[in-house]
Amino acid sequence: MNKYHIWTIGCQMNVADSTHVGAELEKLGYEPTNDVDAADVIVLNTCVVRQSAEDKAQGKLGALKPWRKAHPDRTLALMGCMVGVRPSPKLVEAYPWVDVFMAPSEAAPLVGHLRSRLIEEELAAIEMQQLRSRHELQDGAYPTASIKHLALLGEAPVAANVPVVYGCSHACTFCIIPFRRGVERSRPLAEIVSEVRGLVAQGVREVTLLGQIVDRYGYDLDGETDLTALLEAVHAVDGLLRIRFLTSHPNYLDDRLLEAVAALPKVMPHIEVPIQAGDDEVLAHMRRGYTVDDYRRLVARIRHIVPGAAIHTDVIVGFPGETAAQFEGTYDILEELHLEKTHMARYSPRPGTVSARKMDDDVPDAEKHRRLALLEAQHERISGEINERWQGAAVEVLVEEKHKGKWRGRTPQNRLVFFEDSRDLRGQLVPVQITSTSPWAMQGLATDAPTPT
Ligand code: SF4
Repeated sequence: MNKYHIWTIGCQMNVADSTHVGAELEKLGYEPTNDVDAADVIVLNTCVVRQSAEDKAQGKLGALKPWRKAHPDRTLALMGCMVGVRPSPKLVEAYPWVDVFMAPSEAAPLVGHLRSRLIEEELAAIEMQQLRSRHELQDGAYPTASIKHLALLGEAPVAANVPVVYGCSHACTFCIIPFRRGVERSRPLAEIVSEVRGLVAQGVREVTLLGQIVDRYGYDLDGETDLTALLEAVHAVDGLLRIRFLTSHPNYLDDRLLEAVAALPKVMPHIEVPIQAGDDEVLAHMRRGYTVDDYRRLVARIRHIVPGAAIHTDVIVGFPGETAAQFEGTYDILEELHLEKTHMARYSPRPGTVSARKMDDDVPDAEKHRRLALLEAQHERISGEINERWQGAAVEVLVEEKHKGKWRGRTPQNRLVFFEDSRDLRGQLVPVQITSTSPWAMQGLATDAPTPT
C-alpha cells in the first residue's frame, strides 16, 4: 500500500489542515507512516508567523531534496503559510524538487496531482473507451473543492480541532496571516455540524472551533448565522461533551456570545483573546483597533458574564518603536489582570507585512530577550498562584490519554491535570481532587466513578 508522511509546524489551524490532508490521502488509498524513507508522499505543512518556524521548514525542504531525487515516483508537497494563497514564482524557482504547492487548508492540488498520476497509470492498462467512463466516475468521487474534515488518522483523539472560518480580513501590521491564508471565509454551519457528528461517532469528545478571529464566524454568510448560532447547533450534537473556540478578537467578543458561553453547559469557560501590547501607542501602530482600557473592560465583562472563566492572551515584545516604558505597560496590565495564560513572542519582521515594510525593527535583540524573560518569570509566578487556588478542590477532568503511567486530562478552564487510576478512563469525565499544583500542571486523585458518557 502507498504511504504518506505529514510534517506540521505552527498553529492549531495547521494541525487541523494536516488532519484534513491525511483524510483525503486515505480516501485515495494511502496509509500514514512516520518513516520518511517508506513514504511515497510527503507533505510539509509550514508556518511563517515566526522566523524560527520558517527556518525549520526551509531546513526540512533542503533535507528532503535527496529523498525526492532518489525516486521519480515520490511526491513532495509544500503547504501552508510559506506558500500563501498562491505560490510566488520565486518560491517555485527556489525549490524545483517540490511537486505540488498548496495554499493553507487546500488539499485539492495534491489530490489532483495524485489522481492524475493514477489516471496516467491506468491509461497504459485500459482502452480509451474504458478510460473515459472511469475518468468521469473518479471526477465525481473526489470533489476537489472539498474542505471537509470527516476522517481522522488512526485512533480518533479525545479532543479535535475543527476549522470554522478560514483566513483573516483584518490588517494587523505585524501579521502575515491575511497574505498567506487569504480573506475570511466561513464554512457553512450544516457542514460543520455534520463534521462534528462524524468526529463524535469516531470517539471525539471535545471539539475546538478554530478561526483567526473566530467570533467573526458567519459575517460573510447570510447575515443571521454567527458563532453563537454555531455554538448552539454544535451543542446539540449527542455524545459531544465539551466545546471550546479560539481565537477571539477584543472587538468582536460581544455579550450575546459570552451569554451563550455561560448558558450552554458543554461550552467551556475558556476564552482566548490576545491583547498583544499594554500600551495604546503600540496597539495603534499594530493597528489592533482597541486600547488597553478597552481590553481591561472586556476582561471585566467576561468575568461578570462567565464567572470563573479562564482568559488566555497573547503578547508580542519588542514591536518597532516599543520603548522600555511602553513594555512596562504590558508588564503592568498583565500583573493587574492576572490572566490564566499568556502566550509570548519576540517581534520578528515578516516579509511583506506593513511593519516590515514601513517600520524600523529598532528594539535590539538582547532587549527583546530581556523583556521576554521578564514576562516569562511573571507568567510562571501568576500561573503558579492561579493553580494553587485549586489545591484541595474537586474538578471535572476530561481524560485524554495516558502519559508516563498517569492519566492526563484538562479541567473546564483548560488546566492540565495528571492522576493515577487503573481503570480505562480515556474519553471520560472524571471527578478529581487536586492534591498538588505547580505553575504548569496539577496532580490529583480520582474521587469517584467516572461520569457515564
Ligand atoms: S486578527 Fe490580526 S493577528 Fe489575528 S490573524 Fe488577523 S491580521 Fe493576524
